[in-house]
Amino acid sequence: MSAYVYDLSEGNKDLKDLLGGKGANLAEMHNMGIPVPPTFTITTDACREYLTTGQEPESLAGEIDEHVTALEQAAGKTLGGGDDPLLLSVRSGAKFSMPGMMETVLNIGLNDTSVEGLAKQSGNPRFAYDSYRRLLQMFGKTVLGLEGDLFEDVMDEAKRDAGAASDTELTVDHLKEIVEKFKGIIKNETGNDFPQEPREQLLAAVRAVFNSWNSERAILYRKRENIPAELGTAVNVCTMVFGNLGDKSGTGVAFTRDPASGAQGVYGDYLQNAQGEDVVAGIRNTIPLTDLEGFDKKSYDELMNIMSTLEGHYKDLCDIEFTVQEGKLWMLQTRVGKRTAGAAFVIACQLIDEGVIDEAEALRRVDGDMLAQLMFPQFDPAATKKKIAKGMNASPGAATGHMVFNSAEAVERAAAGERVILVRRETNPDDLGGMIAAQGILTSRGGKTSHAAVVARGMGKTCVCGAEELDVDTKNGTVGLPDGRTLKAGDLVSIDGTTGEVFDGEVPVVAPPVVQYFEGELTPEQIEADDLVRAVSRIMDAADKHRALGVRANADNGPDSARARRFGATGVGLCRTEHMFLGDRRALVERLILADTPEERGSALDALLPLQRGDFVEIFEAMDGLPVTVRLLDPPLHEFLPDLTEMTARVAVADKSGEEVSEKDRTLLAAVERLHEQNPMLGLRGVRLGLSIKGLFTMQARAICEAAAERTKAGGDPKPEIMIPLVGDVHELDIMKDAIRAVQAEVSEATGVDLTQIPIGTMIELPRAALTAGDIAKSAEFFSFGTNDLTQTTWGFSRDDVEAEFFSNYLERGIFKISPFESLDTTGVGRLVQLAAKEGRETRPELHLGVCGEHGGDPASVHFFHQVGLDYVSCSPFRVPVARLEAGRAAVEEEGGSDTR
Ligand code: PEP
Ligand code: MG
Repeated sequence: MSAYVYDLSEGNKDLKDLLGGKGANLAEMHNMGIPVPPTFTITTDACREYLTTGQEPESLAGEIDEHVTALEQAAGKTLGGGDDPLLLSVRSGAKFSMPGMMETVLNIGLNDTSVEGLAKQSGNPRFAYDSYRRLLQMFGKTVLGLEGDLFEDVMDEAKRDAGAASDTELTVDHLKEIVEKFKGIIKNETGNDFPQEPREQLLAAVRAVFNSWNSERAILYRKRENIPAELGTAVNVCTMVFGNLGDKSGTGVAFTRDPASGAQGVYGDYLQNAQGEDVVAGIRNTIPLTDLEGFDKKSYDELMNIMSTLEGHYKDLCDIEFTVQEGKLWMLQTRVGKRTAGAAFVIACQLIDEGVIDEAEALRRVDGDMLAQLMFPQFDPAATKKKIAKGMNASPGAATGHMVFNSAEAVERAAAGERVILVRRETNPDDLGGMIAAQGILTSRGGKTSHAAVVARGMGKTCVCGAEELDVDTKNGTVGLPDGRTLKAGDLVSIDGTTGEVFDGEVPVVAPPVVQYFEGELTPEQIEADDLVRAVSRIMDAADKHRALGVRANADNGPDSARARRFGATGVGLCRTEHMFLGDRRALVERLILADTPEERGSALDALLPLQRGDFVEIFEAMDGLPVTVRLLDPPLHEFLPDLTEMTARVAVADKSGEEVSEKDRTLLAAVERLHEQNPMLGLRGVRLGLSIKGLFTMQARAICEAAAERTKAGGDPKPEIMIPLVGDVHELDIMKDAIRAVQAEVSEATGVDLTQIPIGTMIELPRAALTAGDIAKSAEFFSFGTNDLTQTTWGFSRDDVEAEFFSNYLERGIFKISPFESLDTTGVGRLVQLAAKEGRETRPELHLGVCGEHGGDPASVHFFHQVGLDYVSCSPFRVPVARLEAGRAAVEEEGGSDTR
């Protein structure tokens, strides 16, 4: 076996690292007995050596020579031979497909003599000279680096002179003239003649393909697709077969199923009397592949057979390229084909039905990101739209709103109930408020890791960034459009974060069918349900069957809880009670904070109690029979008070102008000053609040107990769990627990409903809590990992600030691959989770473990939580299906089984 050159019989589909995708799959087809033109493959090793040293390996030329001789013997022809020449194509082929990014040279071996041989042998001089001019053109451009226009201009001129509409109308004489002109260009531009020696042509072409790995567009493509730069490309040297020998010849591309919808049945295009690049260039209109049956049934039938063999072999949708040379079919390429998210679900289910893969493998073929894509609101496909620009699809979704150009205005107008799109050249940390308030974000600068993109994705907000065609003038509040028109602040625009498109005016959105299915508005059995809905439903059933992790939702009201339940949540993992104190109720909390005497505090708490109870009743009802983890008040109190600076200024201005400042305002200012903290996230919050404000947590516990009693009396089956946030030491928990237990006993007594079994647990969201989990578990009856705060406190990143400040820089420099707030930092934060889970369970083997940070809905993090052995993840209602799917996938991944491809 040679070191740098492989025959087809020496390769197989698993050698993609060495032979590239194309080379490995050509070898696989050859070994399956499928007709592949005799080929040899130069390895990526050779390319890497060439790219590092600037020279190909010493033995390469000799090895190529030997393999050419073998091809010659097999064909009974000589490379560039005068009578009946063997011709070769030189094609790039990296491990990962990089469509159109690298080079190909066809018809190697033609020269002034062999072109005549080819003309005679084929009986088609026009074809021979057309092939020669193609070689000169490709060689000039690709190998010698000449401007493509030099050649195109000659072609255009020839067509003009001949009155020909397309290349095919040029006669052999025209082509002979063109060949002479092309040779002249090469001589003029390089000072050398076009090399007539076929082996010299071949080596130069191989080097050109190596070099094309580092072409600008290839580098750019790799960056975008995260393909490592050090892989290098393999080079396939194939015996030429010709699809342009007349009407009995042709070339085509095909998929074994529709890659857009997943629909069954081959799907492809064919071009009679043409070579591959004619199809890609779109010079002539292709015909549907099925038409081939009408005029070349033999090739068509053989092709159908091969495609079905390939699908059976790869156990997946394949795409292929093929050529028919005078009625003889040749396969030029195959691979497992790319497909849309929807098609991935549909195809996975078809393959189960066909007995090709099992359910577990089907789960491996789809993922949560694909499912999420299918759940984003869509612009109504039936609506008429006026596209004004296209940028990067930075964060998916569809959003419509009035354009605003600064954050403050976005906040203000959104608060007034208006839908706004925040339009900026680029965003910065000051824009965070506006980004949160806006329906979507549109920028004219920056890529997918720009601030706007990173933050928007983190928030799940629709974002199109880098729409460079737009001239954004934030000062004057205008956007110049490519067509010269100007839009101004307040005008309506619609942005599609899934495609990057920007539309003028309002485009109506609709819930996609997959969401209708999760909502229970569309069942798979219904006639309106399409293959996609049926496939999603089936895959979800499979995921639920396999998964070990439970999935709960973060919800703090009845409607959200009900939706979460429809989406498959089996409980609420986090009910953030502070969300119940917003709006009108904020004033009641203010009263509590300002209370001077126990009586005042008591009356403020009394006012809050029934409201809290009402909320809990609603949630317990929506989640009847399922656990609801209610977290007691967590955020710093100043969040419920007016802003310090604003308050201070108001009082100062009033004082100065001699206006009377109300007693209430003075007390309020004093309270705001007293409660002001430099680092509120590390301050008086969580259990510290419960320990500082007498009666607060017990009031909440009472509301929970009374709500549970009410539901029980109404025939319901409430299952509350009480959760104490931000515990760092077991004593904090012990004290709170005693107080809550007393409330449980009291309410049980008063209502006659036994509420003493309601479990009391804690969040693990501080490193100290994780490190002392063994102790904390003595008191806590369950743990829920608050990975948002745990990430914040482990890294020392303020979660409200840093995402905006320097994360894009960290991402660009590769310090993170992804924000640790988005996907769990498994090596750091994850280690604390693992330790706490283990030591907690050592103390209390039945300790129930969950996670309720944002990571609970993140696919990669879900896999980690599965591995660590948590009992459930909890995430926002909309992420529940994604978490269910990923939990199922995590389980089958652990079960093992091979990826059949
Ligand atoms: C957490 O810290 O992960 C958590 C769920 O709590 P919050 O986000 O409300 O602080
Ligand atoms: Mg927290």
